[in-house]
Amino acid sequence: MTKIFTTSLCILALTASTYALAHDSHQESHQDEASETMSAPDISAEMIADNFYVLTGPGGNIGVSAGEDGVYLIDDKFSRFADQILFRISEITDEPVRFVLNTHLHGDHSGGNAEMKETGAIVFAHDNVRARMVSNFEKNTPDTERPAPGEEVWPTLTFSETATLHFNGQTATAHHVPKAHTDGDSMVSFMPANIVHMGDNYFNGLFPFVDIDSGGNLEGMIAAQKKVLSMVDDETKIIPGHGPMATKADLEASRDILVDILAQVRTAKDSGMSLEEAQEAVTLDEYKDLSSFIDQKGMVAQAYRSLGN
Ligand SMILES: [Zn+2]
Repeated sequence: MTKIFTTSLCILALTASTYALAHDSHQESHQDEASETMSAPDISAEMIADNFYVLTGPGGNIGVSAGEDGVYLIDDKFSRFADQILFRISEITDEPVRFVLNTHLHGDHSGGNAEMKETGAIVFAHDNVRARMVSNFEKNTPDTERPAPGEEVWPTLTFSETATLHFNGQTATAHHVPKAHTDGDSMVSFMPANIVHMGDNYFNGLFPFVDIDSGGNLEGMIAAQKKVLSMVDDETKIIPGHGPMATKADLEASRDILVDILAQVRTAKDSGMSLEEAQEAVTLDEYKDLSSFIDQKGMVAQAYRSLGN
């Protein structure tokens, strides 16, 4: 069992570093262009409702509530895109960014925190987002290739279960979901606009990344999707952490796929298969179109590890 666990750790470490590298190379290729033009060639704004926009491009999708109370951002991508994000917001409104919610700790969702705080915004997140950022920083050593960010990036306000902003005529509630993509995830609903930002508990059109080393679990991610499905209707606009805008039907399809994958891997594991044997037996060929930085074997490994020992 020790060997199986070690192997699955290696595979997960590999997929996680592939994920980081993919993001890095994507970033680098655009950096010079961005600094030359001082505009926002990477980041696009799409209006999805009155006073509500989604910023797409490299990193996690950003939700933007913009109105007379100011701007409330759900996530803020990478530090290096902060100027572009602020440029796009300046095209939408003259109001300042007043609040930023991090759906979780990953740098493609929280990397712009320092720049947003410098503009006067309050950054908030689940308790575990800050706790993990602090412990990652404390584990940091000076020669670390990818150092964890310091206090300038950490959320200044944290909460345990829900946090509600009454802002721009909306009731905007951040709902914590335990042990899902990480152990510090929030999903945010806006009513009456009927919008939900799911953070990385939903990768639309891709196998999801489950950050098990940060307390995540595929079973929790499925529970998070079921929770959203219990809250929404056919008109709800669902913002995934990555991928295009989605509907309830799209999310139902995602839930069905993840439930099926977990069941297939559970059957293999319960029959005594090692991870390698499970990866041979459970090919996920029927879902190969969802492969990206998490491929079919990586997806099986995430499910296998989520089932414990
Ligand atoms: Zn993430």
